[in-house]
Amino acid sequence: MKEQLERLLSSALEEVARADSEDLLQEIRIKYLGKKGALTAVMKGLGALSNDERPVIGQLANSVKVELEEKLSDTLLQMRETTRQQKLERERIDITLPGRRQHLGTRHPITLVADEIAEIFAGLGFQVAEGPEIELDFYNFEALNFPKDHPARDMQDTFFVDDNILLRTHTSPVQVRTMLKHAPPVRIISPGTVYRCDSDATHSPMFHQVEGLMVDKGVTFGDLKGILTIFVNQFFGKGTGVRLRPSFFPFTEPSAEVDIACVMCKGKGCRVCKQSGWLEILGAGMIDPEVYRHVGYDPESVSGFAFGMGIERIAMLKYGIGDMRLLFDNDVRFLGQF
Ligand SMILES: [Zn+2]
Repeated sequence: MKEQLERLLSSALEEVARADSEDLLQEIRIKYLGKKGALTAVMKGLGALSNDERPVIGQLANSVKVELEEKLSDTLLQMRETTRQQKLERERIDITLPGRRQHLGTRHPITLVADEIAEIFAGLGFQVAEGPEIELDFYNFEALNFPKDHPARDMQDTFFVDDNILLRTHTSPVQVRTMLKHAPPVRIISPGTVYRCDSDATHSPMFHQVEGLMVDKGVTFGDLKGILTIFVNQFFGKGTGVRLRPSFFPFTEPSAEVDIACVMCKGKGCRVCKQSGWLEILGAGMIDPEVYRHVGYDPESVSGFAFGMGIERIAMLKYGIGDMRLLFDNDVRFLGQF
């Protein structure tokens, strides 16, 4: 019995020494120390021994068990440590390698210009208002005094979804939506994306506008000119010349195109202003009474003005950008300059 135990221990230790994985160690533990293991079987046989032999063999079996358990757990710890060391060795970080530079993005020139315009008008008491880009005919045309089949609709090449739904051709529907929701006085500007079937060096099928609307008791054309002059002087610089020319828009009467003295040549005449010394930057006018009727305002008791400008055009003038398409190419070498 004693010899049997010693043989069992030495073969178990040999197997542990050869084991090269945690799984194998576990198998050895089960083989010798498990419920049906070899050592357990010896222990179970102790009952059949004589009273003299039993304590001696029992003690020996116990010490074999303790020794094997210790050997198994030591080997397991060692194995884990080795694995850890190998892993650390493999995953060593080369701290002498130069790091990857984090490039900070810049804001798009369209966003910069829209934000600056909004800020200037905020200083004049205008709040920013927004509306949907997919719009109903009523808000985009009808309520703005573009009746169906009216030739004025041809001024704007429209993307229609169906007879009644379209991609808004200007941000003016936001004015209609605002006036329908709020009684006067109203003072808003609405920057946003608009769509027209048009594409060349100075036109894009998707572009941006900022429109302004001010309605109150006793608002005059003089207020319109005053507000726009303040804006032009803050945005393009003090003393920039402003000129109004008569024009036509269905939703304003009278209407005007607003020119500023050419920012390139300061009015002397150059290629950009086609030698005229002036640049057209926005359209404006006094709200047509017909629009008030559509939104439930009384044209006898309130008056007001609206104006609108293309943000791309303003950005091109401010930054001296020659081709509108540069604004939409998303070339980081271009965008990084702002
Ligand atoms: Zn010029």
